[in-house]
Amino acid sequence: MIIVTRPDATEEQIDHIAARIRSWGLKAEVSRGEMRVVIGVIGPEDKIREKPLGAFPGVESVTPVLKPYKLVAYEFRGRHSHVQIGNVVVGAREFVVMAGPCSVESESQITTIAKEVSKAGARVLRGGAFKPRTSPYSFQGLGKLGLQFLAEARRATGMPVITEVMDTKDLDLVCEYADCLQVGARNMQNFSLLREVGRTKLPVMLKRGMAATIKDLLMSAEYILNEGNFNVLLCERGIRTFETMTRNTLDLNAVPVLKAETHLPVVVDPTHGIGLREFIPSMALAAVAAGADSIMVEVHNAPEQAKSDGEQALLPNDFEDLVGRVRSVAAAIGREM
Ligand code: PEP
Ligand code: MN
Repeated sequence: MIIVTRPDATEEQIDHIAARIRSWGLKAEVSRGEMRVVIGVIGPEDKIREKPLGAFPGVESVTPVLKPYKLVAYEFRGRHSHVQIGNVVVGAREFVVMAGPCSVESESQITTIAKEVSKAGARVLRGGAFKPRTSPYSFQGLGKLGLQFLAEARRATGMPVITEVMDTKDLDLVCEYADCLQVGARNMQNFSLLREVGRTKLPVMLKRGMAATIKDLLMSAEYILNEGNFNVLLCERGIRTFETMTRNTLDLNAVPVLKAETHLPVVVDPTHGIGLREFIPSMALAAVAAGADSIMVEVHNAPEQAKSDGEQALLPNDFEDLVGRVRSVAAAIGREM
């Protein structure tokens, strides 16, 4: 249930409503907008329905949220959320480009690429230290050392870093180094991991599972918000379909649907979405035009030597060229870069 308070509701009235809701054993999530305060009431539907929520002084309206996701629903905020990663805000007017290699391979590799992508216009540096690989014989990432190299690249460029956490046992370690946690496609429904990242204060980018529906993605995000962490980004990264010409099928339908269904910012990963270097720019531009708030792109200075995903990495020059075109499309739809 969503309670919208009147513009003239006092702080005492709002505190009173939240306290009463909590005294009934229900959860009250207070969200403050510029004009109004919205209180989300979470708990068993039948229990909520019997409470006289409309009777509190200061209440303007009470609306049931009929969808299975509550905290992530657009109605919960009634406006789009901004999520801050270091000094970068995602979900506001600025269109944000995140870029970097698939894996952190060495200090010089990540620092060199970080400087290149920063110069080209990227605002957030990506790089995996814990890698979810299909084969146990493939490179698994540098772990803690990779995180230290990422921190060094952040120091050298000033860019905040996003990196994947695969396992709850590594969470404290990853939190020491990351500005944003990434939960990968393969872990989208690892509910214990979702709960644990929900208890941290760091922003979390949740990637859509390769066989997950848009609703599944929203339900997984609900786990994170339900633990108190509202700094969540949703990432469309392509799904498995019958198509075999491309690595995945980038579901750009998800962008406008998510923007309508949820207040959370939407990121698109065209790199894993199509998986073929030559086609990544087209899909990146399409993602901007579709209304995404950000794109994440893999870039490598020597793709033929990359320890993972070299075939889909853009070269720094091609990335720079892409950023110029992204800027034009962003401007055409009223966004800044
Ligand atoms: C990645 O971003 O490096 C990654 C492994 O992506 P995904 O979880 O989408 O496969
Ligand atoms: Mn990759």
